[in-house]
Amino acid sequence: MLRICVFTGSSPGARTDYADAARALGRELVDRGHELVYGGSTAGLMGILADEVLGAGGHVIGVMPEALVAKEVAHRGLPDLRVVGTMHERKALMADLSDAFIALPGGFGTLDEFFEALTWSQLGLHAKACGMLNVCGYFDGLLAFLDRAVEERFLPGPHRAMIISGDSPQALLASLATCSPPTVEKWMDREGS
Ligand code: AMP
Repeated sequence: MLRICVFTGSSPGARTDYADAARALGRELVDRGHELVYGGSTAGLMGILADEVLGAGGHVIGVMPEALVAKEVAHRGLPDLRVVGTMHERKALMADLSDAFIALPGGFGTLDEFFEALTWSQLGLHAKACGMLNVCGYFDGLLAFLDRAVEERFLPGPHRAMIISGDSPQALLASLATCSPPTVEKWMDREGS
């Protein structure tokens, strides 16, 4: 795993713990020799994370669609800012450039990007690890909902288990380095449909 793609909020969130966690993850990425791929913004946790990686001497690649460059305040201090045409191109390029994905707390954008990485893995389009840094239990409700999706037979248990959740950057990155993708099919109870 060289390059890690981090999806996170364009807002800083209600607690300083979120920014602290973004900084801690940034330092840990650099300490472990990873490069950061992210959405290319200075806004919210995205900017805090990128600044920490740059400040610690790490490499950052930002990927931002043209239409968001002004709106989201593109990070002009990045050594590598790639401007693409659309949101879809952004997600595709971020995925192509990266060897693993991490979600930090965020909103719709973060969840959309992370779930797309998961669904591509579920379909066998890539075999890259997907982790969540569950800062202050932010994702607890979402993880509980996914357990319900397993109980209700909309999500295979091994696919639910693709989400590696950790509450510290150290533990999360160590788990991501050793996990292997599931080999089960996406579809359940096919004969009943
Ligand atoms: P949020 O988590 O909503 O603060 O958004 C985090 C990042 O995701 C921001 O850079 C958003 O522009 C981006 N984003 C929002 N929606 C999408 C989408 N559908 N596809 C790709 N990126 C998105």
